[in-house]
This record gives sequence, C-alpha cells and structure tokens, in this order.
Amino acid sequence: MRQVTTPEILTCMINMTPQDLQVMSFPGLHETLWDEREFLGWRDVHHNTKGYLVFWVGEELRGLMVKAAESQMPGGRSAICALCHTQQPAPQVSLFTAPKAGDEGARGNTVGTYLCADLACSTLIRITPAESAEIPDASDTIAHKSLGIRDRLENFSNRVLSVDAS
Ligand SMILES: [Zn+2]
Repeated sequence: MRQVTTPEILTCMINMTPQDLQVMSFPGLHETLWDEREFLGWRDVHHNTKGYLVFWVGEELRGLMVKAAESQMPGGRSAICALCHTQQPAPQVSLFTAPKAGDEGARGNTVGTYLCADLACSTLIRITPAESAEIPDASDTIAHKSLGIRDRLENFSNRVLSVDAS
C-alpha cells in the first residue's frame, strides 16, 4: 500500500467520534514495510478491544475502527478470517463489530465480521508454505490473496458507510 502519515489516519476514519479520535493509539509507522501490506491494521495498546484498519480505495484513504468481542472463540476448533480467508486455530480469529458511519452509527448500528485477532492478515498471507504440486507458484497465490483482501476491505467499508455495493 502507499505510505500514510498519522495526520492522514486521523482525518480518514469514517466511523469514529471526536472522543474516539482523541484517545486512539498509532502503530510505529517508521518500521512499517509498506510494500508488503494491503492495509494497516493494529490493535489499540491502551484500549485492548479496539482495533483499526486503514487502506486505500483508489485515491481515497479509508479508516475503520472495529471492536473485538470480549469472549474468545474456543480452542480446539478452526476458524476463518473473512478478510484473508486463512483457516487457523479459532482463538486467533475474533468476532469484530464496526460502528456504522454517520447517523446509523449514532443510533448504535454496527457491522460484524470475523477477522484475524491481531489484524495482521498481510503478514499471514506472506508466510507461505514451500512450493508444492498444490501450490505451484507461491507469488501468484499471494497476489491473488492480496487482491481478495483489498476487494473485501472496500466492500466491508461500503457496508459501514451504508453504500450499496454493486
Ligand atoms: Zn486475516
């Protein structure tokens, strides 16, 4: 993704109140490998149920706040992240809800989805197994997953914005 700055993040969040923005925490942007991610995703170090997703939709920067369910999914099962579609042990996936933008959000409406608990899908899809008959070309696989993540982020943010996806 193209690099973003803290002031840009502060102005792109579509579903946060001024009070939310005042207390949000930021990741270490100087140590971010921009070329190896579809979006910036991080959990808030001071408010441990909150997380943030920031990404480009064309030329527009969009950011979302999500809140993780307090309860963890049970161990011993597997779950799938709705963004990167990676199957993994259930405790590594959390149910998150995003407040909707604008009036809908003010009335308490949310959009829910299952996501990697650490919001690090970009890292996860790049931890590739050795090439095999089933996975003939790992870089093609990453490119395919990368496109999927960007599409699904746009769709998810459209739902938060109450924009009908065509
Ligand atoms: Zn994921």
